[in-house]
Amino acid sequence: MGLTDRMLIGAIANNPAAFEGTGEYRCCRACEMIYFTSAKQSDATHDGHDWFALPALNPDNSKVLERAFQRFIKRWTTERQDQLELFASRKGWDMAMELKYGGGALEESEVAEWQEIINGRLDQLLRQAREQLQNSAPVVPADE
Ligand SMILES: [Zn+2]
Repeated sequence: MGLTDRMLIGAIANNPAAFEGTGEYRCCRACEMIYFTSAKQSDATHDGHDWFALPALNPDNSKVLERAFQRFIKRWTTERQDQLELFASRKGWDMAMELKYGGGALEESEVAEWQEIINGRLDQLLRQAREQLQNSAPVVPADE
């Protein structure tokens, strides 16, 4: 048994990466397991094992995704950008990047475009997690 891409991507996509707050997803190399732990509700099972914190698509309070979305919509018309900014000023950017039917601002085709960007980022973070999984030492870029 091992860790599937699907399992890793699920944890990366939902990782708050805030051990002191909401919590964080970690991966134990010894047990080949993903687990969730936080300062408040600590899962100490793997503390003595070889673990690492999984990467996060959108760490708590980082607004990484929000900023990426604001850059992303620059490819759309000024009119559309204004509409989205207005929407975001009322309901927040996290809602603006959601599908209309879910209470957000986006049409299905727009969500599909945005999802491609997210998937690209998730692929990148998945590769990073795979590298971390293979190397016990932190990954340091080689000097050239
Ligand atoms: Zn373990």
